[in-house]
Amino acid sequence: MNEEYDVVIAGGGPSGLSAALVLGRARKRVLLCDSGPRRNAAAERIHGFVTRDGTPPSEFRHIGREQLRHYPNVSVRDVRVEDVRGDKGAFEVSLEDGVVRARRVIVGVGMVDELPPIPGYRELWGKAIFQCPYCHGWEVQDGAFALIASGPPMVEFSLFLRGWTKDLVVFTDARFEVADDLRRRVLGAGITIEERAIAKLIPDASGQHLEAIELADGARIARRVVFARPAQRQPALVTRLDLALDENGFVRLSEHRETSRPGIYAAGDSTTMMQGALVAASSGAHAAYMLNHELTMELAASGLL
Ligand SMILES: Cc1cc2nc3c(=O)[nH]c(=O)nc-3n(C[C@H](O)[C@H](O)[C@H](O)COP(=O)(O)OP(=O)(O)OC[C@H]3O[C@@H](n4cnc5c(N)ncnc54)[C@H](O)[C@@H]3O)c2cc1C
Repeated sequence: MNEEYDVVIAGGGPSGLSAALVLGRARKRVLLCDSGPRRNAAAERIHGFVTRDGTPPSEFRHIGREQLRHYPNVSVRDVRVEDVRGDKGAFEVSLEDGVVRARRVIVGVGMVDELPPIPGYRELWGKAIFQCPYCHGWEVQDGAFALIASGPPMVEFSLFLRGWTKDLVVFTDARFEVADDLRRRVLGAGITIEERAIAKLIPDASGQHLEAIELADGARIARRVVFARPAQRQPALVTRLDLALDENGFVRLSEHRETSRPGIYAAGDSTTMMQGALVAASSGAHAAYMLNHELTMELAASGLL
């Protein structure tokens, strides 16, 4: 256990990369660890990120890592963070291939989408099934949309999706009732409500696009794109570190972006419902500013700088 860092960052997505850049420029010794699938792995391009609109996710990460190479005090490794023991100022961070020491830790590990077991869903996720109209609505605007709703709030969300198309069918998948008032408002906006159970999603010949949604009774409804919000869970590290969660299942933070464990900060999707690459990058920078301010003041006052 010879390696010592000021900060170990778990997660090399937009939040972790952004935190590493800020801390590198603040002359901290940083280890950025990234392992496992990234959340937007299935997507072809990232949209809505100023200066990076339309960039493939792998290229985005490549650029982020290239820019970190400019800072010799920042190391990047493709390795999983498995645990963090000890206390603020003297953490022992277990990586899959050893242990390093760190004064502080940032957790930017994203969220895990739990895709429903509907045949065809996994194959079309990120290609014809999207979770966010800001990210992918422009490319499919005015198309034949489906919204697979997990409950009444998602039926309400269909009114918002009308901003991108007039041709919209909401599927309840026979899982819940739609109240009269909500039904009236949705139908009044020209949206169709389909309440039969879904059997499968049928791709076109290329396998890249949706052709139709087949219902349990065999009926097929032609659709080109699906919006849906699958259930999410926290990655294993958040559970392992026993970080307190808020009422929506996101990591609870102080106003300085510190978690319930002193010295461990968090950023990105695992901390908020507002999930997007730019928001995650911004929160990574925010966590780094807060952490660096506190750490620098402490080191300076202790004569350690
Ligand atoms: C299909 C899809 C398309 C999307 N398209 C867009 C878009 O066009 N525009 C947009 O703004 N947003 C988009 N998003 C959302 C965007 O991808 C996320 O908001 C963003 O990636 C979140 O960044 P993050 O840093 O929080 O997490 P992530 O990007 O998920 O990165 C977290 C990283 O941490 C790693 N990790 C997990 N556990 C550990 C561990 N123990 N040790 C080390 N590493 C670990 C993960 O493997 C991952 O690489 C999309 C999301 C999806 C699902």
